[in-house]
Amino acid sequence: GGFQSMGLSYPVFKGIMKKGYKVPTPIQRKTIPVILDGKDVVAMARTGSGKTACFLIPMFEKLKAHSAQTGARALILSPTRELALQTMKFTKEPNTGASFSLSDRMEDQFAALHENPDIIIATPGRLMHVAVEMNLKLQSVQYAVFDEADRLFEMGFAEQLQEIMGRLPEDHQTVLFSATLPKLLVEFARAGLTEPVLIRL
Ligand code: AMP
Repeated sequence: GGFQSMGLSYPVFKGIMKKGYKVPTPIQRKTIPVILDGKDVVAMARTGSGKTACFLIPMFEKLKAHSAQTGARALILSPTRELALQTMKFTKEPNTGASFSLSDRMEDQFAALHENPDIIIATPGRLMHVAVEMNLKLQSVQYAVFDEADRLFEMGFAEQLQEIMGRLPEDHQTVLFSATLPKLLVEFARAGLTEPVLIRL
């Protein structure tokens, strides 16, 4: 199974080829079709496995469909600002959708959100801060990603993660990527995800 057998649209497929990816990595082969299918996923994958493309390729596919609604349709949570910026760089390369950058200046973040982005990429702490300040609704989010989820918990974001989950609409899709599956994370997934498919290599 290569990228061409995943049923991707031509623009998304072209974006992958443009990045120089010839064959999917093992975790991409396993996760992309399941995420495209709309299922909630818990995937065990570390940095270097190609995990970022696992959640971004289906995201681009989902965002392609036009939507009359306003508000961000995809939310990506990263444990650190560095990872958030790296992910943002990745989303800009194939040039699909807008994104919310994590500027150091709070005013820039408010401005970015006023521009009504399709994608929000943020750390949970900063997202909740901005959400409270701006009374940001996350009811438009259809696709939520918890990247490096074990680190999100290690960094003490448990409370913010619960709060964010509580603001998402009932019928959204959640995918969670993590190198390890500590008990706290399993409990979080059990409570917040809908019949998640567990994927490991
Ligand atoms: P990640 O695990 O998402 O941090 O990705 C690690 C590195 O692998 C990044 O430099 C990606 O651009 C690269 N990469 C991801 N998927 C592929 C692929 N299918 N073929 C070649 N390189 C890839």
